[in-house]
Amino acid sequence: MREPLVRLEKVSKVFPGGVVGLDAVDLGIAAGEFLTLLGPSGCGKTTSLRVIAGFESPTSGNVLLEGRDITGLRPFDRPVNTVFQDYALFPHMDVAANVGFGLSLRKLSGTEQAKRVGEALEMVGLADKLRARISELSGGQRQRVALARAIVCEPRVLLLDEPLSALDAHLREQMQVELKRLQSRLGTTFVMVTHDQTEALSISDRIVVMNKGRIEQIAPPATLYDRPATRFVASFIGTMNLLQSRFVGRDGERLRFTAGELPLEAVSETGEMPVAGDTRTIGVRPEDLLVASEAAEGTAPARVSGVVFHGRTLRLHAELGQGTSIVVDAPRRADGFQFSVGDVAHVRLRRGANCPVLSN
Ligand code: ATP
Repeated sequence: MREPLVRLEKVSKVFPGGVVGLDAVDLGIAAGEFLTLLGPSGCGKTTSLRVIAGFESPTSGNVLLEGRDITGLRPFDRPVNTVFQDYALFPHMDVAANVGFGLSLRKLSGTEQAKRVGEALEMVGLADKLRARISELSGGQRQRVALARAIVCEPRVLLLDEPLSALDAHLREQMQVELKRLQSRLGTTFVMVTHDQTEALSISDRIVVMNKGRIEQIAPPATLYDRPATRFVASFIGTMNLLQSRFVGRDGERLRFTAGELPLEAVSETGEMPVAGDTRTIGVRPEDLLVASEAAEGTAPARVSGVVFHGRTLRLHAELGQGTSIVVDAPRRADGFQFSVGDVAHVRLRRGANCPVLSN
């Protein structure tokens, strides 16, 4: 593999009082990629970002830029810029002054500064707001000013800490598209922190899922969704049934299991081969289960305990027996037939579904 642009080598951060922020994190960030750090509160996302920016120094381990050790370099000496969650704009200055602030610290002519501020505002669609005051701008416009200010210095790496969290749902989705487009146009490496899995899935080239200061899995969105490696990732990304299942045999690459009476087929990422009778956790997406009102080969009965309207589909919550609950997404039937609470649904795995064997 080519040397990544940024590399964290066994980076640990222990805060005073012994709180572990990062625990031996190894991470390579490729030039030009949109990488997202995703995970629950306190998992170490922001600490990772601050270590890359140089605001936080690791307790042990190194930060490299193109193979060069920059662990001891001050933030201003790194070709890295940050967009903060609250934007940290200067409310008493106009848009141009805010965007040009970083440039004014460098020795650039006034004309050059004005040109670059103009270009950055053009990029974020705010060319007509040059003289507006920050207080006159909407949330989305402020977010764009913060972006323009960060890109104007042409950093190699742009760090974004929950950049869209202050926006309402509709604007947030629009800004996700814009952010992705901006990143492609600039070709700059973006590293974004979010705890919103939908946002991470829709915007990233790769996602790093973190848990308790460690990396659980690094993968492109579709891989993370289709083949989560661990129970933690499976339960954090979308909805997944985690079914305790018994191994019964194999068909080539496909491993046959049974969760109670429900036959399942799974693939193992690690290539490890269970022996008959072994139990494993199999991840099954609700959309990979089918339901019918009649029993048939390969189905298992499940008593419906809840029905939730989801637009095109109905989400059924059902009990497979032996305390196993499952969630199934069933299409709404044209003939109006629907399952109700108390009905028995006959559930089976969709043919060709790729269920992962999950590790703990
Ligand atoms: P959030 O989504 O809530 O912002 P996060 O994933 O960004 O969370 P971090 O801010 O990186 O998490 O924090 C990781 C751990 O380190 C947490 O347990 C946090 O309490 C702790 N921590 C972070 N900064 C400090 C600090 N300056 N002093 C002590 N503990 C800290």
